[in-house]
Amino acid sequence: MGTAGDSEKKPTVVFVLGGPGSGKGTQCAKIVEHFGYTHLSAGDLLRAEIRSGSENGTMIQNMIKEGKIVPSEVTIKLLQKAMQDSGNDKFLIDGFPRNEENRAAFEAVTKIEPAFVLFFDCPEEEMERRILSRNQGREDDNIETIRKRFKVFLESSLPVVEYYESKGKVRKVDAAKPIDEVFEVVKAIFTPKDEKVAV
Ligand code: UDP
Ligand code: MG
Repeated sequence: MGTAGDSEKKPTVVFVLGGPGSGKGTQCAKIVEHFGYTHLSAGDLLRAEIRSGSENGTMIQNMIKEGKIVPSEVTIKLLQKAMQDSGNDKFLIDGFPRNEENRAAFEAVTKIEPAFVLFFDCPEEEMERRILSRNQGREDDNIETIRKRFKVFLESSLPVVEYYESKGKVRKVDAAKPIDEVFEVVKAIFTPKDEKVAV
């Protein structure tokens, strides 16, 4: 494990980014069905960690309620464990990295660079409308926290997208459209070039 000359292949990672309510979770479920990836939502892993009664639970819960970003160390540990437990070698990492520090820490700890970044671009009014109508019983899906999450997204998460943009790794999708129309575009991004048949 991890020794010099180890020929073990690194897993394929796609970061799925976009504002709250941009459709990351919905589209990831469809990518899983069609392309055999394992979907890891950082937010879902953090919520499961709260429910498990871990010693970090209260801290995580408070941060989520305020729309703040949980320390990288905590999130990365959960992601690493989920990757190991999955038995798969292809991952959609949804809602992470959320800031520059998340990004740098993930690369430093795992030595994994994403194959590409799938970015769901959606106007704020549409994201707000979706969150307020989805009723998943989430403590952070209220207008006050939503506004905070939008602010954190613009200030901290968009710079991560810009970083990968500068490396030519961003695949941007117009996420304001209906689910199936968005997925048509997503599907083309995940389909290997030589399998795309011209009509
Ligand atoms: N969160 C975090 N780090 C992550 C992912 C999520 O701190 O890497 C926290 C953060 O407080 C965020 C909340 O979990 O506002 C909900 O994240 P999730 O991705 O579930 O929300 P979404 O953007 O999909 O609506
Ligand atoms: Mg989500």
